[in-house]
Amino acid sequence: MADDRSASGGGRGARGTDVGGAVALTPETDEAFRYRVRGFLDAHAHRRDDPEVRRPAGDDAALVEWATSYQAALYDAGLAGLTWPIAYGGQGLTTAHETIFNEEAGDLDLPSGVFSIGFGMCIPTLLAHGSEELKQRYVRPAARGEEIWCQLFSEPSAGSDVASLQTRAVRDGDEWIVDGQKVWTSGAQHCDFGILLARTDPEVPKHRGLTMFVLDMHAAGVAVRPLRQMNGASNFNEVFLDSVRIPGDQVVGEPGEGWRVAITTLMNERVSIGAGRSAATTPTPVEPVEAHLDTARRRRLQGDPLAREGLADLLVQARVLDLVGLRVRAAASAGRVPGPEGSIAKLAGSLLAARAAQLGAALAGPEATLTRLHRGGSSPWAERVLSAPAASIAGGTSEVMRNILGERVLGLPKEPEVDRSVPFSQVRTSEAPDTFPR
Ligand SMILES: Cc1cc2nc3c(=O)[nH]c(=O)nc-3n(C[C@H](O)[C@H](O)[C@H](O)COP(=O)(O)OP(=O)(O)OC[C@H]3O[C@@H](n4cnc5c(N)ncnc54)[C@H](O)[C@@H]3O)c2cc1C
Repeated sequence: MADDRSASGGGRGARGTDVGGAVALTPETDEAFRYRVRGFLDAHAHRRDDPEVRRPAGDDAALVEWATSYQAALYDAGLAGLTWPIAYGGQGLTTAHETIFNEEAGDLDLPSGVFSIGFGMCIPTLLAHGSEELKQRYVRPAARGEEIWCQLFSEPSAGSDVASLQTRAVRDGDEWIVDGQKVWTSGAQHCDFGILLARTDPEVPKHRGLTMFVLDMHAAGVAVRPLRQMNGASNFNEVFLDSVRIPGDQVVGEPGEGWRVAITTLMNERVSIGAGRSAATTPTPVEPVEAHLDTARRRRLQGDPLAREGLADLLVQARVLDLVGLRVRAAASAGRVPGPEGSIAKLAGSLLAARAAQLGAALAGPEATLTRLHRGGSSPWAERVLSAPAASIAGGTSEVMRNILGERVLGLPKEPEVDRSVPFSQVRTSEAPDTFPR
Protein backbone atom coordinates (compact mmCIF):
# COMPACT_ATOMS: atom_id res chain seq x y z
CA MET A 1 0.00 0.00 0.00
CA ALA A 2 1.28 3.43 -0.82
CA ASP A 3 1.87 5.58 2.21
CA ASP A 4 0.58 8.85 0.92
CA ARG A 5 0.65 10.49 4.32
CA SER A 6 4.41 10.04 3.97
CA ALA A 7 4.60 12.72 1.30
CA SER A 8 6.91 15.59 2.03
CA GLY A 9 7.98 18.69 0.21
CA GLY A 10 6.09 20.68 -2.37
CA GLY A 11 4.56 23.29 -0.09
CA ARG A 12 5.98 25.90 2.23
CA GLY A 13 5.37 25.81 5.96
CA ALA A 14 2.83 28.59 6.21
CA ARG A 15 3.76 29.51 9.73
CA GLY A 16 7.27 30.32 8.58
CA THR A 17 6.34 31.65 5.17
CA ASP A 18 3.99 34.22 6.52
CA VAL A 19 6.08 35.50 9.32
CA GLY A 20 6.31 39.19 8.63
CA GLY A 21 10.01 40.09 8.74
CA ALA A 22 11.30 37.28 10.97
CA VAL A 23 13.49 39.41 13.22
CA ALA A 24 15.30 38.04 16.23
CA LEU A 25 13.86 39.27 19.50
CA THR A 26 15.84 41.81 21.44
CA PRO A 27 15.94 41.40 25.25
CA GLU A 28 13.53 44.33 25.63
CA THR A 29 10.91 43.15 23.18
CA ASP A 30 11.33 39.62 24.49
CA GLU A 31 10.63 40.69 28.07
CA ALA A 32 7.90 43.15 27.12
CA PHE A 33 6.12 40.49 25.12
CA ARG A 34 6.47 37.93 27.90
CA TYR A 35 5.08 40.46 30.38
CA ARG A 36 2.06 41.11 28.15
CA VAL A 37 1.40 37.37 27.70
CA ARG A 38 1.72 36.76 31.44
CA GLY A 39 -0.68 39.57 32.21
CA PHE A 40 -3.25 38.14 29.81
CA LEU A 41 -2.91 34.57 31.07
CA ASP A 42 -3.10 35.64 34.72
CA ALA A 43 -6.45 37.22 33.96
CA HIS A 44 -7.88 34.51 31.70
CA ALA A 45 -6.47 31.10 32.62
CA HIS A 46 -5.92 28.80 35.56
CA ARG A 47 -3.52 25.97 36.28
CA ARG A 48 -4.28 22.48 35.01
CA ASP A 49 -4.13 21.01 38.51
CA ASP A 50 -6.38 23.64 40.09
CA PRO A 51 -8.83 21.50 42.16
CA GLU A 52 -11.40 24.31 42.15
CA VAL A 53 -11.92 24.20 38.41
CA ARG A 54 -13.75 21.48 36.50
CA ARG A 55 -12.84 21.39 32.81
CA PRO A 56 -15.72 20.64 30.41
CA ALA A 57 -15.27 17.35 28.51
CA GLY A 58 -13.82 17.31 24.99
CA ASP A 59 -17.19 16.79 23.30
CA ASP A 60 -19.06 19.25 25.45
CA ALA A 61 -20.75 22.36 24.05
CA ALA A 62 -19.57 24.18 27.19
CA LEU A 63 -15.97 23.60 26.08
CA VAL A 64 -16.68 25.31 22.76
CA GLU A 65 -18.33 28.21 24.54
CA TRP A 66 -15.34 28.59 26.86
CA ALA A 67 -12.94 28.28 23.89
CA THR A 68 -14.66 30.91 21.79
CA SER A 69 -14.83 33.50 24.56
CA TYR A 70 -11.18 32.83 25.50
CA GLN A 71 -10.12 33.17 21.85
CA ALA A 72 -12.04 36.46 21.42
CA ALA A 73 -10.26 37.86 24.48
CA LEU A 74 -6.92 36.61 23.13
CA TYR A 75 -7.59 38.36 19.83
CA ASP A 76 -8.62 41.60 21.53
CA ALA A 77 -5.38 41.48 23.52
CA GLY A 78 -3.39 41.25 20.26
CA LEU A 79 -2.20 37.73 21.02
CA ALA A 80 -4.12 35.61 18.48
CA GLY A 81 -2.63 34.42 15.19
CA LEU A 82 0.83 35.43 16.39
CA THR A 83 2.70 34.45 13.22
CA TRP A 84 -0.05 35.16 10.71
CA PRO A 85 0.22 38.26 8.52
CA ILE A 86 -1.19 41.50 9.89
CA ALA A 87 -3.08 42.06 6.62
CA TYR A 88 -5.37 39.10 7.40
CA GLY A 89 -5.83 39.67 11.12
CA GLY A 90 -2.68 38.07 12.51
CA GLN A 91 0.09 39.73 14.54
CA GLY A 92 2.95 39.34 12.03
CA LEU A 93 5.27 38.10 14.79
CA THR A 94 7.82 35.28 14.81
CA THR A 95 7.90 31.73 16.09
CA ALA A 96 10.14 33.05 18.87
CA HIS A 97 7.11 34.96 20.15
CA GLU A 98 5.05 31.81 19.79
CA THR A 99 7.63 29.92 21.85
CA ILE A 100 7.43 32.56 24.59
CA PHE A 101 3.64 32.27 24.61
CA ASN A 102 3.86 28.46 24.85
CA GLU A 103 6.39 28.69 27.69
CA GLU A 104 4.09 30.98 29.66
CA ALA A 105 1.03 28.86 28.89
CA GLY A 106 2.81 25.58 29.71
CA ASP A 107 1.06 24.61 32.96
CA LEU A 108 -2.22 26.34 32.26
CA ASP A 109 -5.45 24.75 31.24
CA LEU A 110 -6.41 26.42 27.97
CA PRO A 111 -9.22 25.42 25.62
CA SER A 112 -6.98 25.70 22.57
CA GLY A 113 -7.70 22.09 21.44
CA VAL A 114 -10.98 23.33 19.92
CA PHE A 115 -8.98 25.43 17.44
CA SER A 116 -5.95 23.19 16.99
CA ILE A 117 -7.00 21.85 13.56
CA GLY A 118 -7.94 25.27 12.25
CA PHE A 119 -4.86 27.04 13.59
CA GLY A 120 -2.39 24.19 13.08
CA MET A 121 -3.55 22.99 9.65
CA CYS A 122 -6.45 24.70 7.85
CA ILE A 123 -5.51 28.37 8.15
CA PRO A 124 -1.81 27.73 7.36
CA THR A 125 -3.01 25.86 4.25
CA LEU A 126 -5.23 28.78 3.20
CA LEU A 127 -2.40 31.22 3.83
CA ALA A 128 -0.06 29.17 1.65
CA HIS A 129 -2.42 28.33 -1.23
CA GLY A 130 -5.69 30.25 -0.90
CA SER A 131 -6.75 33.13 -3.14
CA GLU A 132 -6.61 36.67 -1.76
CA GLU A 133 -10.41 36.55 -1.34
CA LEU A 134 -10.26 33.34 0.70
CA LYS A 135 -7.57 34.75 2.96
CA GLN A 136 -9.47 38.03 3.47
CA ARG A 137 -12.69 36.15 4.17
CA TYR A 138 -11.53 33.40 6.54
CA VAL A 139 -8.34 34.20 8.45
CA ARG A 140 -9.52 36.99 10.75
CA PRO A 141 -12.76 35.29 11.93
CA ALA A 142 -10.69 32.15 12.64
CA ALA A 143 -8.18 34.18 14.68
CA ARG A 144 -11.06 35.68 16.69
CA GLY A 145 -12.49 32.20 17.32
CA GLU A 146 -15.73 33.12 15.56
CA GLU A 147 -15.44 30.25 13.09
CA ILE A 148 -14.10 26.80 13.90
CA TRP A 149 -12.42 24.61 11.30
CA CYS A 150 -11.95 20.91 10.63
CA GLN A 151 -10.04 18.80 8.14
CA LEU A 152 -11.88 16.33 5.89
CA PHE A 153 -9.29 14.03 4.32
CA SER A 154 -9.67 10.48 5.68
CA GLU A 155 -12.29 8.09 4.35
CA PRO A 156 -13.27 4.55 5.32
CA SER A 157 -10.85 3.18 2.68
CA ALA A 158 -8.35 6.02 2.53
CA GLY A 159 -6.34 6.89 5.64
CA SER A 160 -2.61 6.24 5.32
CA ASP A 161 -3.15 6.10 1.56
CA VAL A 162 -5.28 9.24 1.54
CA ALA A 163 -4.68 9.96 -2.18
CA SER A 164 -6.90 6.96 -2.96
CA LEU A 165 -9.95 8.77 -1.58
CA GLN A 166 -13.27 8.39 -3.40
CA THR A 167 -15.34 11.42 -2.42
CA ARG A 168 -16.12 13.03 -5.74
CA ALA A 169 -16.70 16.61 -6.82
CA VAL A 170 -18.26 17.23 -10.23
CA ARG A 171 -18.35 20.67 -11.80
CA ASP A 172 -21.79 22.14 -12.47
CA GLY A 173 -21.52 25.62 -13.98
CA ASP A 174 -19.96 27.89 -11.36
CA GLU A 175 -20.37 25.30 -8.64
CA TRP A 176 -19.15 21.84 -7.69
CA ILE A 177 -21.42 19.04 -6.49
CA VAL A 178 -19.85 16.81 -3.88
CA ASP A 179 -20.84 13.27 -2.88
CA GLY A 180 -19.04 10.89 -0.56
CA GLN A 181 -18.11 10.07 3.00
CA LYS A 182 -15.35 11.22 5.32
CA VAL A 183 -14.42 9.71 8.66
CA TRP A 184 -12.39 10.54 11.81
CA THR A 185 -13.14 14.21 11.21
CA SER A 186 -12.01 15.75 14.50
CA GLY A 187 -14.33 18.35 15.98
CA ALA A 188 -16.68 18.38 12.95
CA GLN A 189 -19.71 18.53 15.23
CA HIS A 190 -18.65 22.02 16.36
CA CYS A 191 -17.23 23.30 13.09
CA ASP A 192 -18.33 26.00 10.70
CA PHE A 193 -15.89 25.26 7.88
CA GLY A 194 -13.57 22.49 6.79
CA ILE A 195 -10.92 21.92 4.17
CA LEU A 196 -12.15 19.08 2.03
CA LEU A 197 -10.05 16.95 -0.32
CA ALA A 198 -12.12 15.44 -3.14
CA ARG A 199 -11.55 13.68 -6.45
CA THR A 200 -12.37 15.84 -9.43
CA ASP A 201 -10.75 13.78 -12.19
CA PRO A 202 -10.71 9.97 -12.03
CA GLU A 203 -9.04 9.62 -15.44
CA VAL A 204 -5.58 10.63 -14.22
CA PRO A 205 -3.36 8.90 -11.62
CA LYS A 206 -4.66 9.26 -8.08
CA HIS A 207 -2.44 12.14 -6.92
CA ARG A 208 -3.25 14.27 -9.96
CA GLY A 209 -7.07 14.19 -9.86
CA LEU A 210 -7.66 15.82 -6.48
CA THR A 211 -8.92 19.30 -5.58
CA MET A 212 -9.03 21.10 -2.22
CA PHE A 213 -12.19 22.99 -1.25
CA VAL A 214 -13.42 25.10 1.61
CA LEU A 215 -16.58 23.32 2.76
CA ASP A 216 -19.34 25.15 4.64
CA MET A 217 -20.20 22.59 7.31
CA HIS A 218 -23.72 24.06 7.57
CA ALA A 219 -24.44 23.64 3.83
CA ALA A 220 -27.40 21.52 2.71
CA GLY A 221 -26.39 17.86 2.29
CA VAL A 222 -23.66 17.83 5.01
CA ALA A 223 -24.52 15.36 7.79
CA VAL A 224 -22.20 14.95 10.80
CA ARG A 225 -22.42 11.86 13.02
CA PRO A 226 -20.20 11.74 16.13
CA LEU A 227 -18.32 8.48 16.85
CA ARG A 228 -17.88 7.19 20.41
CA GLN A 229 -14.26 6.43 21.41
CA MET A 230 -12.93 3.95 23.95
CA ASN A 231 -12.18 6.80 26.38
CA GLY A 232 -15.88 7.68 26.36
CA ALA A 233 -15.48 10.95 24.46
CA SER A 234 -16.76 11.79 20.99
CA ASN A 235 -13.99 13.89 19.52
CA PHE A 236 -14.39 12.76 15.97
CA ASN A 237 -17.10 12.08 13.45
CA GLU A 238 -18.34 10.54 10.26
CA VAL A 239 -19.31 13.20 7.72
CA PHE A 240 -21.69 12.33 4.89
CA LEU A 241 -21.80 14.53 1.81
CA ASP A 242 -24.93 14.22 -0.28
CA SER A 243 -25.06 16.45 -3.37
CA VAL A 244 -23.41 19.30 -1.48
CA ARG A 245 -22.96 22.41 -3.61
CA ILE A 246 -19.68 24.32 -3.25
CA PRO A 247 -19.21 27.64 -5.09
CA GLY A 248 -16.30 27.65 -7.56
CA ASP A 249 -14.46 30.42 -5.68
CA GLN A 250 -14.07 28.09 -2.67
CA VAL A 251 -11.37 26.02 -4.39
CA VAL A 252 -8.02 26.29 -2.58
CA GLY A 253 -5.25 26.43 -5.19
CA GLU A 254 -6.26 25.22 -8.64
CA PRO A 255 -8.53 22.30 -9.57
CA GLY A 256 -6.36 19.19 -9.86
CA GLU A 257 -3.70 20.65 -7.53
CA GLY A 258 -5.29 19.26 -4.39
CA TRP A 259 -2.42 16.91 -3.57
CA ARG A 260 0.11 19.75 -3.54
CA VAL A 261 -2.18 21.72 -1.25
CA ALA A 262 -2.82 18.66 0.94
CA ILE A 263 0.92 18.20 1.48
CA THR A 264 1.04 21.59 3.19
CA THR A 265 -1.78 20.51 5.48
CA LEU A 266 -0.15 17.15 6.26
CA MET A 267 3.22 18.77 7.00
CA ASN A 268 1.61 21.29 9.31
CA GLU A 269 -0.45 18.51 10.92
CA ARG A 270 2.67 16.56 11.77
CA VAL A 271 4.37 19.62 13.18
CA SER A 272 1.25 20.63 15.08
CA ILE A 273 0.90 17.19 16.66
CA GLY A 274 4.55 16.39 17.18
CA ALA A 275 6.20 19.70 17.85
CA GLY A 276 3.39 21.85 19.10
CA ARG A 277 2.05 21.64 22.60
CA SER A 278 -1.36 20.51 21.51
CA ALA A 279 -2.70 17.74 19.32
CA ALA A 280 -5.97 17.43 17.51
CA THR A 281 -7.90 15.37 19.99
CA THR A 282 -5.37 14.87 22.73
CA PRO A 283 -4.82 18.43 23.89
CA THR A 284 -1.94 17.47 26.20
CA PRO A 285 -0.41 14.30 24.80
CA VAL A 286 2.37 14.37 27.34
CA GLU A 287 1.17 15.01 30.84
CA PRO A 288 3.59 17.43 32.52
CA VAL A 289 6.12 15.50 34.58
CA GLU A 290 4.85 17.42 37.64
CA ALA A 291 1.65 15.37 37.51
CA HIS A 292 3.76 12.20 37.71
CA LEU A 293 5.68 13.67 40.62
CA ASP A 294 2.45 14.53 42.43
CA THR A 295 1.21 10.99 41.98
CA ALA A 296 4.54 9.57 43.15
CA ARG A 297 4.49 11.77 46.27
CA ARG A 298 0.89 10.90 47.08
CA ARG A 299 1.74 7.20 46.92
CA ARG A 300 5.03 7.76 48.80
CA LEU A 301 7.06 6.48 45.88
CA GLN A 302 9.43 9.41 45.51
CA GLY A 303 12.28 7.35 46.99
CA ASP A 304 11.54 4.22 44.98
CA PRO A 305 14.48 3.55 42.60
CA LEU A 306 12.29 2.25 39.76
CA ALA A 307 9.91 5.19 40.05
CA ARG A 308 12.87 7.61 40.06
CA GLU A 309 14.38 5.93 37.02
CA GLY A 310 11.05 6.14 35.14
CA LEU A 311 10.62 9.81 36.05
CA ALA A 312 14.16 10.73 35.03
CA ASP A 313 13.74 8.87 31.75
CA LEU A 314 10.48 10.68 31.04
CA LEU A 315 11.96 14.05 31.90
CA VAL A 316 14.91 13.51 29.55
CA GLN A 317 12.68 12.33 26.70
CA ALA A 318 10.26 15.21 27.15
CA ARG A 319 13.17 17.65 27.05
CA VAL A 320 14.58 16.05 23.90
CA LEU A 321 11.17 16.25 22.27
CA ASP A 322 10.92 19.92 23.22
CA LEU A 323 14.25 20.52 21.50
CA VAL A 324 13.15 18.63 18.37
CA GLY A 325 10.03 20.80 18.42
CA LEU A 326 12.16 23.94 18.57
CA ARG A 327 14.16 22.70 15.61
CA VAL A 328 11.02 22.07 13.58
CA ARG A 329 9.52 25.46 14.46
CA ALA A 330 12.78 27.20 13.65
CA ALA A 331 12.77 25.53 10.20
CA ALA A 332 9.18 26.66 9.66
CA SER A 333 10.07 30.16 10.79
CA ALA A 334 12.86 30.28 8.21
CA GLY A 335 10.32 29.38 5.51
CA ARG A 336 11.49 25.76 5.14
CA VAL A 337 9.07 22.86 4.89
CA PRO A 338 9.59 20.66 7.93
CA GLY A 339 11.00 17.47 6.42
CA PRO A 340 11.85 14.27 8.26
CA GLU A 341 12.22 16.20 11.53
CA GLY A 342 8.44 16.72 11.47
CA SER A 343 8.06 12.93 11.26
CA ILE A 344 10.64 12.44 14.03
CA ALA A 345 8.68 14.83 16.25
CA LYS A 346 5.38 13.12 15.41
CA LEU A 347 6.75 9.61 16.05
CA ALA A 348 8.65 10.58 19.21
CA GLY A 349 5.67 12.55 20.54
CA SER A 350 3.28 9.63 20.22
CA LEU A 351 5.75 7.16 21.74
CA LEU A 352 6.31 9.54 24.62
CA ALA A 353 2.56 10.06 25.13
CA ALA A 354 2.11 6.30 25.50
CA ARG A 355 5.10 6.00 27.81
CA ALA A 356 4.00 8.91 29.98
CA ALA A 357 0.52 7.43 30.36
CA GLN A 358 1.94 4.02 31.27
CA LEU A 359 4.32 5.47 33.83
CA GLY A 360 1.55 7.58 35.35
CA ALA A 361 -0.68 4.51 35.62
CA ALA A 362 2.13 2.44 37.16
CA LEU A 363 2.80 5.15 39.76
CA ALA A 364 -0.90 5.57 40.53
CA GLY A 365 -1.47 1.84 41.08
CA PRO A 366 -5.15 0.92 41.54
CA GLU A 367 -6.01 4.62 41.56
CA ALA A 368 -5.28 4.62 37.81
CA THR A 369 -8.57 2.86 37.17
CA LEU A 370 -10.55 5.76 38.64
CA THR A 371 -11.76 8.60 36.52
CA ARG A 372 -12.31 10.79 39.57
CA LEU A 373 -10.78 10.75 43.06
CA HIS A 374 -13.12 10.72 46.04
CA ARG A 375 -11.05 13.42 47.76
CA GLY A 376 -11.76 15.79 44.90
CA GLY A 377 -9.36 16.57 42.09
CA SER A 378 -8.99 14.05 39.34
CA SER A 379 -6.84 11.13 38.39
CA PRO A 380 -5.79 11.76 34.81
CA TRP A 381 -4.32 8.33 34.27
CA ALA A 382 -7.31 6.23 33.21
CA GLU A 383 -8.15 8.83 30.60
CA ARG A 384 -4.50 9.17 29.52
CA VAL A 385 -4.00 5.43 29.08
CA LEU A 386 -7.13 5.20 26.93
CA SER A 387 -6.31 8.30 24.89
CA ALA A 388 -2.59 7.79 24.22
CA PRO A 389 -2.99 5.27 21.35
CA ALA A 390 -4.82 7.94 19.29
CA ALA A 391 -1.59 9.94 19.05
CA SER A 392 0.12 7.05 17.24
CA ILE A 393 -2.60 7.03 14.54
CA ALA A 394 -3.70 10.65 14.03
CA GLY A 395 -1.77 12.61 11.41
CA GLY A 396 -0.08 9.48 9.97
CA THR A 397 0.53 6.28 11.93
CA SER A 398 3.80 5.40 13.64
CA GLU A 399 4.40 2.72 10.97
CA VAL A 400 4.02 5.33 8.24
CA MET A 401 6.37 7.72 10.11
CA ARG A 402 8.93 4.89 10.32
CA ASN A 403 8.57 4.31 6.57
CA ILE A 404 9.31 7.98 5.94
CA LEU A 405 12.35 7.96 8.20
CA GLY A 406 13.56 4.71 6.63
CA GLU A 407 13.33 6.18 3.16
CA ARG A 408 14.33 9.78 3.73
CA VAL A 409 16.85 9.54 6.53
CA LEU A 410 18.28 6.02 6.22
CA GLY A 411 18.03 5.90 2.41
CA LEU A 412 16.20 2.56 2.33
CA PRO A 413 14.39 1.64 -0.89
CA LYS A 414 10.93 3.09 -1.42
CA GLU A 415 7.89 0.89 -1.02
CA PRO A 416 6.53 -0.40 -4.34
CA GLU A 417 3.53 1.66 -5.49
CA VAL A 418 1.77 -0.24 -8.22
CA ASP A 419 -1.07 2.27 -8.57
CA ARG A 420 0.97 5.47 -8.70
CA SER A 421 0.92 6.01 -12.47
CA VAL A 422 -2.35 4.26 -13.31
CA PRO A 423 -5.52 6.35 -13.96
CA PHE A 424 -7.58 6.19 -10.77
CA SER A 425 -10.59 4.82 -12.66
CA GLN A 426 -8.54 1.71 -13.47
CA VAL A 427 -7.31 1.07 -9.94
CA ARG A 428 -9.01 -1.80 -8.15
CA THR A 429 -10.28 -0.67 -4.77
CA SER A 430 -12.09 -2.36 -1.90
CA GLU A 431 -15.03 0.00 -2.34
CA ALA A 432 -17.86 -0.47 -4.82
CA PRO A 433 -16.30 0.30 -8.24
CA ASP A 434 -19.09 2.60 -9.40
CA THR A 435 -18.94 5.30 -6.77
CA PHE A 436 -17.59 7.69 -9.41
CA PRO A 437 -19.71 8.49 -12.47
CA ARG A 438 -17.81 7.51 -15.61
C1 LIG B 1 -7.35 11.06 17.13
C2 LIG B 1 -7.48 11.06 15.64
C3 LIG B 1 -7.89 12.21 15.00
C4 LIG B 1 -8.02 12.21 13.61
N1 LIG B 1 -8.47 13.35 13.01
C5 LIG B 1 -8.63 13.38 11.67
C6 LIG B 1 -9.17 14.54 11.03
O1 LIG B 1 -9.50 15.54 11.70
N2 LIG B 1 -9.31 14.52 9.70
C7 LIG B 1 -8.96 13.46 8.93
O2 LIG B 1 -9.09 13.52 7.72
N3 LIG B 1 -8.47 12.32 9.51
C8 LIG B 1 -8.31 12.26 10.86
N4 LIG B 1 -7.83 11.12 11.47
C9 LIG B 1 -7.56 9.93 10.64
C10 LIG B 1 -6.09 9.58 10.53
O3 LIG B 1 -5.40 10.45 9.69
C11 LIG B 1 -6.03 8.14 10.01
O4 LIG B 1 -6.64 7.32 10.98
C12 LIG B 1 -4.62 7.67 9.76
O5 LIG B 1 -4.05 8.35 8.68
C13 LIG B 1 -4.58 6.16 9.49
O6 LIG B 1 -5.49 5.81 8.52
P1 LIG B 1 -6.52 4.59 8.75
O7 LIG B 1 -7.17 4.79 10.10
O8 LIG B 1 -7.40 4.49 7.57
O9 LIG B 1 -5.62 3.29 8.88
P2 LIG B 1 -5.00 2.47 7.66
O10 LIG B 1 -4.33 3.39 6.71
O11 LIG B 1 -6.04 1.55 7.12
O12 LIG B 1 -3.89 1.64 8.41
C14 LIG B 1 -4.19 0.43 9.13
C15 LIG B 1 -2.89 -0.13 9.68
O13 LIG B 1 -2.01 -0.43 8.59
C16 LIG B 1 -0.76 0.25 8.77
N5 LIG B 1 -0.26 0.70 7.47
C17 LIG B 1 -0.95 1.37 6.53
N6 LIG B 1 -0.15 1.64 5.47
C18 LIG B 1 1.06 1.18 5.79
C19 LIG B 1 2.33 1.16 5.11
N7 LIG B 1 2.46 1.69 3.89
N8 LIG B 1 3.37 0.59 5.75
C20 LIG B 1 3.25 0.04 6.99
N9 LIG B 1 2.08 0.00 7.67
C21 LIG B 1 1.00 0.57 7.08
C22 LIG B 1 -1.06 1.43 9.66
O14 LIG B 1 0.08 1.86 10.37
C23 LIG B 1 -2.14 0.87 10.58
O15 LIG B 1 -1.54 0.16 11.63
C24 LIG B 1 -7.70 11.06 12.85
C25 LIG B 1 -7.29 9.90 13.51
C26 LIG B 1 -7.18 9.89 14.89
C27 LIG B 1 -6.74 8.64 15.57
